[in-house]
Amino acid sequence: MINYQERLDRVRAQMARQRVDYLLVGPSTDLVYLTGYHTSQSERLTLFVLPREGDPRLVMPAFEVARVEHLESAVQPASWTETESPVELLASLLRERGRGATIAIGGQLHAAFLLRIQKALPDARFMEGAYVMDPVRVRKDEYEIEQLRAAASAADEVYLELLQTPLLGRSEQEIAHDIERLLVEKGHDSVTFVLVAVGANAASPHHHVGERQVEEGDAIVLDFGGSINGYHSDLTRTLHVGTPTDEFRAVYDTVRLANQAAFEAVRPGLTTGEVDKVARDRITGAGFGPYFIHRTGHGIGLDVHEPPYLVEGDQMVLEEGMTFSIEPGIYLRDKFGVRIEDIVVVTAIGAERLNQSPHGLQVVG
Ligand code: ZN
Ligand code: ZN
Repeated sequence: MINYQERLDRVRAQMARQRVDYLLVGPSTDLVYLTGYHTSQSERLTLFVLPREGDPRLVMPAFEVARVEHLESAVQPASWTETESPVELLASLLRERGRGATIAIGGQLHAAFLLRIQKALPDARFMEGAYVMDPVRVRKDEYEIEQLRAAASAADEVYLELLQTPLLGRSEQEIAHDIERLLVEKGHDSVTFVLVAVGANAASPHHHVGERQVEEGDAIVLDFGGSINGYHSDLTRTLHVGTPTDEFRAVYDTVRLANQAAFEAVRPGLTTGEVDKVARDRITGAGFGPYFIHRTGHGIGLDVHEPPYLVEGDQMVLEEGMTFSIEPGIYLRDKFGVRIEDIVVVTAIGAERLNQSPHGLQVVG
């Protein structure tokens, strides 16, 4: 059960801290977080209007009002008909049509809507909604951690089943289709993404799945995720087909130890940049520094990538209830890549892994 009132209270406390008078949020994960309303952006404006004081309203097309009537959040629609101007309706909801107000705008609103809103409210000041939303969303409550835990263990089950599946001779595309099917079979509501990178393709961290077939001697990077009640999984493991070379073993061990070291470092009070540094120092110390070409991890929740970002130099301080990936990798062009990724949650004294899939090198057929 989600306590929407508590979420609104936390956001309002943040609005007070930032001296924000109104928060405007279009169809987005922010809207889902604040109201439970899942809808997609279209040419018709839907906009959640949260004043720092007073009741929130949902500006929306009149013919869609039935969709929000039974939401647990009990959000009150302010509806516009096909011949009315939604931006005019918005202006009428703000005190003195927003004169002198500071308005925070959700980051996932179409630019065209923002331009129309700015034109209708020429005397308001605008800022990014992230300043208000991110500090609230970055700490997960118990309900959210339970959803992330369920998604992570469903992803683990997908991986365990893949280990039992013959991969030799099959294409990236075919393996990806298996993973898509398994993600849903193991309990996800839907598939978010599937990456299968075979052989030298694995040297590209965001390889686009193609026709390449698995051959003896290939490394395979599998990175996939789905969602449960809107909350995402994101798991990466690297397999090897047939006997690996010494070079591959050295790279694999370095990534495994970097992942472990970063995980063990996590605790409240450390910065995200410091966690990145722990993983990066391991990889640099083993001589592979130039081949670790991305950040160590990203937050995860209603978005598969969201704050906090574990990136070199980042100063965000870890707090209990933050959830993110730890996913160091090494990518050797024209040869192979290795990445190992788990989702973790920050606890009072350290971190807990939500994924349980083993880290040891799996040699498969
Ligand atoms: Zn991933
Ligand atoms: Zn990830």
